[in-house]
Amino acid sequence: MFDLATPSDPALTARANALDGALGGATPQKVLERLLDENFEGGIAAVSSFGTESAVLLHMIAEVDPRTPVLFLDTGMLFPETFAYRDELQEKLGLSDIRVFTPDVEDAAQLDPESMLWSADTDACCGFRKVKPLGRALDGLGAWINGRKRYHGESRSDLPVVEADGPRIKVNPLANFGAQDIQSYFVQHHLPLHPLQKHGFSSIGCMPCTSRTLPGENVRAGRWRGTGKTECGIHIPGH
Ligand code: SF4
Repeated sequence: MFDLATPSDPALTARANALDGALGGATPQKVLERLLDENFEGGIAAVSSFGTESAVLLHMIAEVDPRTPVLFLDTGMLFPETFAYRDELQEKLGLSDIRVFTPDVEDAAQLDPESMLWSADTDACCGFRKVKPLGRALDGLGAWINGRKRYHGESRSDLPVVEADGPRIKVNPLANFGAQDIQSYFVQHHLPLHPLQKHGFSSIGCMPCTSRTLPGENVRAGRWRGTGKTECGIHIPGH
């Protein structure tokens, strides 16, 4: 069922607020230790794009439980380097349950037969390539983990660590992590970089909608550059 737009019920919201109150100041590792052990009906999974910062969250998760399901949305428009990086991290971190979700074949044929919808309507393209598959991926789960951070700015500036999101809990363990924290974690744990990072890409999504960032720009400035769009929609309530 595609239920990302389902409003959260008051009991779920209260539970999320209580968890955020208890864990809002905790380290990401403590948040994960606590919530990967929490009894969420339907279980908990992480969503990862295997982008430039993804290794940090995935390493932390693997340290707690490498069997944690990791949901990966293959939009059909990703860089080959992202798949290579996914495979590298899977092996290095010992992640044993990466699950791949793709757009509906019927949607692709009907909505985007030439694979050019991104140039005319990015919201519609993200809708069937990302938002709808994520709805399928999360179906039945009680909670999900993602890697958003406040330092990314825009709608992420006031992220809580735990929030209610439709019919489930959403966990943002790295909400308090800054750019320097990310860099230090990579160095400290000898984590490999995304292959495109050395070519000037600081945030990586689909090929047509990702460009290099210039020194001093926001880390996500290269995403949907020049369109005013800042999020694909999977983190926007009501989509
Ligand atoms: S990021 Fe671009 S190509 Fe990818 S789903 Fe969204 S609009 Fe389509």
